[in-house]
Amino acid sequence: NTQVLLRNRPTGEPSETDFEVVETEIPSPGPGQVLVRAHFLSLDPYMRGRMSDAKSYAKPVALGEVMEGATVGEVVESNDPRFGEGDLVAGSKGWQRFSVADGDALRKVDTGIAPLSTYTGLLGMPGLTAWVGLEDIGQPKPGETVVVSAASGAVGQVAGQIAKARGARVIGVAGGQAKCDFVVKELCFDACLDHRGDLDAQLDKACPDGIDVYWENVGGKTQHAVFPRFRDFGRMVMCGMISQYNTAPGADTSKAEPGPNLGAVVRKRLRIQGFIVFDTGWQRYGRFLAEMDGMIRAGQLKWKEDVVEGLERAPRAFIGLLRGENFGKLVVKI
Ligand code: NDP
Repeated sequence: NTQVLLRNRPTGEPSETDFEVVETEIPSPGPGQVLVRAHFLSLDPYMRGRMSDAKSYAKPVALGEVMEGATVGEVVESNDPRFGEGDLVAGSKGWQRFSVADGDALRKVDTGIAPLSTYTGLLGMPGLTAWVGLEDIGQPKPGETVVVSAASGAVGQVAGQIAKARGARVIGVAGGQAKCDFVVKELCFDACLDHRGDLDAQLDKACPDGIDVYWENVGGKTQHAVFPRFRDFGRMVMCGMISQYNTAPGADTSKAEPGPNLGAVVRKRLRIQGFIVFDTGWQRYGRFLAEMDGMIRAGQLKWKEDVVEGLERAPRAFIGLLRGENFGKLVVKI
């Protein structure tokens, strides 16, 4: 069995030596358990948090343990009558080829809706995140202006397309011309702004009447440029701030840009709310999946994956994710 273990807790940007790729015995399923061979491993920004032992909403991965992560794959051997050999399943079994899981921890997936790999992205946790954040916080209405950061990424691409389907004008923000072209031409956002350029000037042009909903994936200078442009009763969906994830706790932030002036929250009656998809997302997965299925059939939902071949390449690809090197949902083909 091939596994990727956490070796060190990085300070700042992780390096490949913080991980170790090892070969071990293939485990045997116990009573009620299922042996799964993973075909795809999802790589997601939250994994940076699991490498750290700073206080968070979830436990860190222990040193020497298999890195945490969601996989989709195939049942190889089953001691649970609900699963048979060859069934396709999703679960959180970490950065490894073979794993045993309790049947209750696995979900069967339907590749009639979209291919297996999409259950790590579009139809998996990132897509569900986009849907939950818009249902609960963003609540875009027809004609409103929605800005989505990291627009070509796993969460951003779905958030923007759902907002568009609900009648909003959707403006993406992404790093570089290729990503912006994809967001406009393939995902059909109304515009996409390159944060490597002058974002203030681009926002003035794309959102002359201001912004109703901001989907926050990145923080930093993009947040800075967007925040003063909120309209009254604007909503800020605090999904993540990836630009901060490699900042070590206690690091010198005296030279960092100051945060936005929160006085505007009162004056403009803004709503700023964070959320974690795991809280209530999976309980609503059926509703989410039905809506995504409908949008795919109606040609309203496209997706892009950035597929890396081989588990041994996962550490390098993950480091790149925190630098913006991925183009689309980052997934490892095992
Ligand atoms: P993406 O597929 O969007 O990949 C990350 C993207 O973020 C990169 O492609 C890049 O886009 C941008 N980025 C990377 N590094 C930096 C940096 N240092 N500064 C600024 N931008 C950067 O990832 P996901 O869609 O999986 O995740 C997006 C966000 O959603 C993350 O903040 C993540 O933590 C959050 N999230 C939150 C969840 C929740 O429950 N609240 C659940 C899932 C995800 P570009 O090149 O366009 O700038």
